[in-house]
Amino acid sequence: MLIYSKNLWNAQKERFEEGLLQIEKGRFVRLEYACPKGVQAKKKILDFGESFLGPSSVDLHVHSRGFKESHKETFETLECAALKGGVSVAACMANTFPRLDTPARIQDFFKQSLKQKVRFIPFAAVTKNLEGVEPTDWAKLLSLPIAGLSDDGKPILSEAILSGAMKATDRAKKILSLHEEDTRISRASPMHLSETSMRLGFEGSPSEAEWQILKRDLQLGSSLKASLHFAHLSSAESVKILAEAKRRGIAYSAELTPHHALLSVDEAERFSFDQISNFKVCPPIRGVEDRAALLKAVALGVIDCFASDHAPHSTFEKEVPFDQAAHGMIAMEYYFPLLNEIRLQAKMSWARFYRAASSRPSQLLRLDPPFMKGSRASFLVFDPNDEQTLIWSRSKSKNTPFEGRKIRGRILAHWIEGVKVYEEK
Ligand SMILES: [Zn+2]
Repeated sequence: MLIYSKNLWNAQKERFEEGLLQIEKGRFVRLEYACPKGVQAKKKILDFGESFLGPSSVDLHVHSRGFKESHKETFETLECAALKGGVSVAACMANTFPRLDTPARIQDFFKQSLKQKVRFIPFAAVTKNLEGVEPTDWAKLLSLPIAGLSDDGKPILSEAILSGAMKATDRAKKILSLHEEDTRISRASPMHLSETSMRLGFEGSPSEAEWQILKRDLQLGSSLKASLHFAHLSSAESVKILAEAKRRGIAYSAELTPHHALLSVDEAERFSFDQISNFKVCPPIRGVEDRAALLKAVALGVIDCFASDHAPHSTFEKEVPFDQAAHGMIAMEYYFPLLNEIRLQAKMSWARFYRAASSRPSQLLRLDPPFMKGSRASFLVFDPNDEQTLIWSRSKSKNTPFEGRKIRGRILAHWIEGVKVYEEK
């Protein structure tokens, strides 16, 4: 099949150009740019005109639920949201129930998710039951086709376990994804320490809970020459530490989520008492300066990956007092449009945008570079400027502070491995 667009992504030159692509057996066999000859004369051509056509998203941080939490999300509802949100590959965290902390559990994960069109790749837990005490069988787990190791949701406070996990993941060339939170400082406080937390009467968690441990882990990682991945960073101080690490040539990768990029803690005051728990996430949404620093960091490549941290929770876990509510929010259904809104607010180049949304995550997961001849034909047709109001319906859970919010960017169609899996009605 031949597909034409005036705005076709050129992954080598990292810009949009008029062009033509051809798909065979789920892969790109031809990508031709700059007014390909005879385009108009060709028959059987799918013409997308002015619409933009570029790689689909690869999400490094998803809480799939399923198993004993199928009331929150199943692989079917997660996929349904991902198809509309433009995600073709999703790396899933180990904090399912039961936990993904043995090879048998990893096999169960594959059994449940393999029939989906979206590729779900699990992380295995670093420690048994994510308790930070007893290491899992790293050698066996890392020999499976997993993304890597992560205790996400919990930090690894033990330096001995952390350095062992760094060496093991580095040897296996897989990801060690770190949830940077010194729980001795954050002490389960539900909100960022700020005027808002004080006004609303909640315990506040300072940014220090994040950056202190980020600093420790960068030092440890650079002394072992191991590459680390930092999940969902939230503070201006963390950005500063990463910028310094980058200057010194220390290898790392880091994530920015839509909620940390697009929200600040003061907005919590706009929510009614029964809605405010949708604002609760770990690490917490921080101040206006933090949000500005995060946007700048992703535009400069100091933070080099986007990730959703999609975390479904059912109503009974969220409609409780704020300090007792579960952490997390959904994002999958509008993931790519939310990233596009970040791109616009951060004034990111398209080159940096696609590196963070697709190529860098693919590289970390050891997948084909996206949108190249020979790679899997997974892509989105979209309008980057059209505004839409977010109405969430595809995920099994509804916990999001973005209900009714207006953002720019709209997916018109999503193809995975040469098959159209979503089209806007
Ligand atoms: Zn986390």
